[in-house]
Amino acid sequence: MVDNSNPSVSTAMQVVDSLSDIGRAMPFVAPAFILLKIIIDIEQRAQEVDAKCSDLVERITFMISHLPILEKIEIMPSTRQVIERMNEAIKSAAALIAAYRKQSRVARRLSISNREKFTQCAEAINICCHDLLMSLQIHQSTQLEILTRDVPIDDDDKAAQTFVEEHGGSVDAVMYDRELVKEFAQQQHLVMDDSVMEQLNQNIADSVQQNQQRFEGILQDNVKTAIADSLKSIAAEMHASEAEQRFKCVQCDKEFTNSSNGPKACSYHRAEYDSWSRSFPCCSTSHPCQFAAHRSKHHCDYPYGNFFPRSRGVLNYTDTNEEWASVEDTNLETDEVQKASVGQLYRWVSRGARVEENTLLITIGRVWYKYPYYFSTFTAKELEDITKSVRLSRRTLIFRTSADENEYALAEWILSISGKITGVRLTAKAATSPQPYVRVCPIDLASCTRSGEILTLSEGGMRSYTPASP
Ligand SMILES: [Zn+2]
Ligand SMILES: [Zn+2]
Repeated sequence: MVDNSNPSVSTAMQVVDSLSDIGRAMPFVAPAFILLKIIIDIEQRAQEVDAKCSDLVERITFMISHLPILEKIEIMPSTRQVIERMNEAIKSAAALIAAYRKQSRVARRLSISNREKFTQCAEAINICCHDLLMSLQIHQSTQLEILTRDVPIDDDDKAAQTFVEEHGGSVDAVMYDRELVKEFAQQQHLVMDDSVMEQLNQNIADSVQQNQQRFEGILQDNVKTAIADSLKSIAAEMHASEAEQRFKCVQCDKEFTNSSNGPKACSYHRAEYDSWSRSFPCCSTSHPCQFAAHRSKHHCDYPYGNFFPRSRGVLNYTDTNEEWASVEDTNLETDEVQKASVGQLYRWVSRGARVEENTLLITIGRVWYKYPYYFSTFTAKELEDITKSVRLSRRTLIFRTSADENEYALAEWILSISGKITGVRLTAKAATSPQPYVRVCPIDLASCTRSGEILTLSEGGMRSYTPASP
């Protein structure tokens, strides 16, 4: 299975195939072949060619292609040391490529410091390669520019850099701002969901280190046997441990993997099936009316049928949640209601199991496919991530039902001077009210609980009058 679309991988495969005899004869160079084989496997399964990965593959292939000379010379202890360092450098490169390829395409591009990691890796390989050429007494090579060139930057990386520059120049401010990340994903026609934000919050160095340990284990188990089996068992083992994670889509209930997902991979209805009228109220046909990317986690970026039984299961019962504060204003002419609330989620289903962590619940608008709505929960960990994002972006708005200044409901985070979330402000205003109704719920970030009395900042307009007695 030669990947013709990526010449650097095809060349690497040829080198591995033609040189594995040397690994068999000299087990101390075998790790280099095994690791290059691991890299080839990762690159073959990758969805697209990436200039930084190809560059590392080429450097490593170039270095390894000099090893046949080992068979003709007497091997000195200094040469063995160089080979050991070479094995380590290739292991670091394999670990980096594996971690990088695990990032989604959006996260990979916006993690602009990735390029530094590739540069460090390339430098380590270059130094090893120089030492190797010296100790093998190879003096000149026409391909030496491989070692002196810069790590390439491709169009997608450039697009990410330009995007960051256009938005203030701070990578952090973009990376932690969900709205900006979403905008970048849209601009690049890439899939955006909450896993992208999680990946951007994670440090790639951690997963590089995990990979190094994993590869160390594979090497220990395989150096003797794998060479004899022409590296085939390594590939099988890698596939088993790297088998792509399967997710279940919350919109269409189908299984998907990141590589099978795409901007139009999922089809679904905006509204849920109505068993009484035996139809979908969104489009009145049985064929899905919407197309988007599969999503593994529930979200309120846009309506989809499966969302509503879930939100209703919470909102229509009293044992599922406790309301801390709410605002509501009714338009006296149209009877349209603007509302928002904040509280604690106890369980997702009435009489079901209680959620394990303290969970904040924020609801804005009427949760129905025809209206703009927001229904989302937050654990302490999620609030901490949001704090980071809000502190950098100063984007405190959680959601607003309408841009109309006269009629809207909204919720926003309240920050302390040091940039910590200390509460949620709720606002509701109907066009028939002269003033909005505004309340503040103080929140303790660490415990994800209400931390004080609800403040009413503005009583707002004429809310529906309820007589004390009929
Ligand atoms: Zn539909
Ligand atoms: Zn789907």
